[in-house]
Formats: sequence, structure tokens, C-alpha cells
Amino acid sequence: MNTIGHLINGALITEGQTTLPVYNPATGNVATQADVASAKTVNEAVRLAKEAYPAWRNTPPIRRARIMQKFLQLLEENADTICEMIGHEHGKIKHDAMGELQRGIENVEYACGIPTLLKGEHSRGVGPGIDAWSEFQPLGVVAGITPFNFPVMVPLWMYPLAIACGNCFILKPSERDPSSTLFVAQLLQEAGLPPGVMNVVNGDKGTVDALLDNKDISAVSFVGSTPVAESIYSRASAAGKRCQALGGAKNHAIVMPDADLDNAVSQLLGAAFGSSGERCMALSVVTAVGDNTADALIAKLKEKMTDLRVGACNDNNNDFGPVITGAHRDRVVRLISSAETQGADVVVDGREPLVAGFESGFFVGATLIDRVTPKMESYKEEIFGPVLQVVRVDTMADAMQLINDHEYGNGTCIFTRDGEAARYFSDHIEVGMVGINVPLPVPVAYHSFGGWKRSFFGDLSAYGPDGVRFYTRRKTITQRWPSEAVREGVSFSMPVMK
Ligand code: NAD
Repeated sequence: MNTIGHLINGALITEGQTTLPVYNPATGNVATQADVASAKTVNEAVRLAKEAYPAWRNTPPIRRARIMQKFLQLLEENADTICEMIGHEHGKIKHDAMGELQRGIENVEYACGIPTLLKGEHSRGVGPGIDAWSEFQPLGVVAGITPFNFPVMVPLWMYPLAIACGNCFILKPSERDPSSTLFVAQLLQEAGLPPGVMNVVNGDKGTVDALLDNKDISAVSFVGSTPVAESIYSRASAAGKRCQALGGAKNHAIVMPDADLDNAVSQLLGAAFGSSGERCMALSVVTAVGDNTADALIAKLKEKMTDLRVGACNDNNNDFGPVITGAHRDRVVRLISSAETQGADVVVDGREPLVAGFESGFFVGATLIDRVTPKMESYKEEIFGPVLQVVRVDTMADAMQLINDHEYGNGTCIFTRDGEAARYFSDHIEVGMVGINVPLPVPVAYHSFGGWKRSFFGDLSAYGPDGVRFYTRRKTITQRWPSEAVREGVSFSMPVMK
């Protein structure tokens, strides 16, 4: 069986000690296996990255940008292969994998602008003959730890920008679908990156722990579930590392009585069930304002949901694929059942879908649950499956209260034709990324991505302008070249400009 190894100092290696199975979730069979990097391998990768750092840091930003341009070209040329790899291990249908890749590519495009992004700030004449400027210097060796649900896009949120800023990078991808992540990193190597600048170590918690314990890692970017995000943030911060840790979500949409319902229904279907609901920005709860809105919405959703196609990645006509593992499918089914037991109404039931030819796959069909209440387990937990829950509320204020009271605050959206209501919503909602008639308000690569509350631990969000700040540190230089005209004597008072 093929074993997915590690990319260290420009070479592929495997340890051959411990491996983890990687499934094809459409068939339920083990497709390949991931080698697990021990602390020894992780430390060696960090040592080699540290060795590569001085030369890379001193490489002019325009040369770093040229490598990113070549990387862009290779990503485009290899798009089909990358998307097939995503499909076989994640289960994502090709049209969706192409979308993931494109959103990743946009982060590489942003990184190509690094000479401009690192220009710094300059003030002439802050005192007599004195100039001051701030520049943004790289941190050294930085690490990224990424989730299964976007094996290409989320790593591309991190390392192109970190490397363009002059850092060396160690990536620990998800052990559930590591092939496409490793392949894409190899393309960056092929684009002309010096050995040791980009490294990939595969593995699980033990591999992550080795990264967190290594004193030569200056910063950690994490994306994954909230309990892990919180523990990584605490541990990295306690060790003096800079950390941004993005966690889970429970994204609500508000459907107002004046909304264009047909449009809202189309948008909700894609945002709730696309990628089997395994997106941190998936809309998993609709708060319908008024019973009339809820009844009409549910009738339309129910009708449209009969056309949805769940199946394997090899058929591009499918709307979405399986969930990632058998254990995860069982959890999603259990949460649907718990809502039913606690009094909710399962309007469309996807617990036992029939997918001809793929009977052992990890499939869950699109599910719609009405009359969900905030006390239910299915409402509190992130389900991360193709399940849309409806909570009926009387007013927009009630809907906003629900959202603001929820522990997560990643994304949200309002469907309305009322500009005043939309403005009030975006002003007062306690969520980091807000859509107005836009169901998946994932910021474009030249903004930054970050939730609020327990969806995010840290200060600077991911990618875009915050990403540049995260992967660099400010140095401020104040300079005077003393001359006869400007020469001061001894002074023991705090220097001021008189
Ligand atoms: P996960 O937390 O299980 O794993 C994420 C990464 O952490 C993986 O690389 C994994 O190997 C590692 N890991 C797992 N347990 C660990 C532990 N105890 N200690 C150290 N490392 C550990 O997440 P997942 O199941 O791969 O991804 C799904 C989750 O990610 C969902 O909660 C989803 O909302 C979230 N997510 C969030 C965002 C965001 O931007 N906020 C984006 C994508 C996914």
C-alpha cells in the first residue's frame, strides 16, 4: 500500500514506524496510509528549516514573489490531479474541489504582491535631522496545523504568505486526507523554493505536540475544532509562541418576512449541504422570523431537497459527497436522532440514504429539521454534516439574541430586502464574518478571515492584511546622522520635540 510520507529539506521521506489509515469515504475502504512523524523527525525538520532561514530571509521579496508566480502556474496546470486527490480522500465532488482550489489560489495571488505588502512606514523629520520608519521582519520558523475539510485551501491560507514574508514553514496536515496537501507542497518545491523553506510532517496529536514543544518554532497557525484550537492556543502562548487558532462554528441565517424566499432557499441549500455541511462557514441553522415565513420556507426547502444528489466524487452531477469517516457519519445520525427524541420535527430525513454502488460509503443525505430549540443538543453542538435546522422566532431581535448568545461566532447571514434591518444586523451582531443576502461570507484573499467568541483564539485573523502582520514583527528604527548644524548636548530628560 502507498504510504504518504513527509517533505523535509526538499526530499520525501518516510519513517516506517507508525502509520494511520486514510479512507476513501465513498467506498468505506482504506485507500492509503499516512506515515506518522515522531518527535525526532519533527525536530530534524525544524533544525533544517532554521538552517535555511537566514538565506531565505535575505532573499529579496521580488524573488520570493517570482517563486509564488511559478507556483500559481503549477497549481493551475495540476488542477485536475489535485481535485481528484481531494475527492478520493475527502469525498468532495470535483466542482466543489475546484472551488476550494480556486479560493486557495487566490491566497497565492495575494502573496505574489509581497514586495508591496512589506513596504513599511516612513516618517521624515520626526525631530531635527531625525527620520523614523517601521519595517516588518519575518519571525523565523513558523508552523501550521490544518483540518481535514479543506486539505488544499486552508494550508494555502497559511504558507504562501508566511514564506513570502521570509519565514520557513512546517505544515502538519490532517491525517485523514493528507495526499493532496503533500502534493501541493511538492509543487511549491518544484517552483524553485530552496530546500528547507517549506516542509510537511504528517501525523497526529503526537506530531503536533512535538511542534509545540520545539523552542525554535516562533509562531503557530491552527485551524480545526474548538477544543483543540483552545488547547493549542494555551500551550503555544505559554511557550511564548505567537498563535492564531481558528475553531468550530454554528452559523445561523436569519430569514426575514420580506426576504426573496426563492433566492433564500437556493442560497440556503448550497450553504447548508455543499461539501456535506463540512465547512466551518456552512449555514446550519435558519432562524425564520414569524410562523408564516417558517412555513413557506420549509415548504420550498422540502420541495427542492428532493432533487439533491448525494454520491461519490467521480460523478460531477452529484451535489455533495460522503462525510469524512464512519465514526463521523454515526455522530451526525445520532445528533439528528437526538433532536427528534427531544421534540423536533425531522421534515426531510437523510439518515439512511441509498447510494447505488457505494453501499459501504460514509453517506448522510440532506436533512431538514423543524422546531429546533436552543436547549437541544443538536442546536448547541457543531454537527458538521448535511443537516439544516430551523428555529422559529417571533422577531428579528429574538433571532439576533439567539445568535449573540451562541458560544460560536464564525459566520452569519441575513436574508432581507430592508436595508435598515440589514445595517442594524451587521452593526450589532456578535459574529466575525457577516453576509447580507450572501450565505457564505468567506472573506476574499485580500481581506482577512476570523470568527469571534469561541470560533477564534488569538488577535490577528488568518490571511490577507492580518496574515502579513501575523507572519512578521514590526521593527521601528529612529535614525540621526549627527552634523555640525544639528548636535545636541547631554540631556537627562525624556527626549521630546519642542
Ligand atoms: P480537528 O481539530 O480534529 O483536527 C485539526 C488538526 O489538529 C489536525 O491536523 C489534527 O491532526 C490535529 N489534532 C487533532 N486533535 C489534536 C489534539 N488533541 N492535539 C493536537 N492536535 C490535534 O479538526 P477536523 O475534524 O480536522 O476539522 C473540522 C473542524 O475544523 C470543525 O470544527 C470546523 O469547524 C473546523 N474548521 C474551522 C475553520 C475556521 O476557519 N474557523 C476552517 C475549517 C475547519
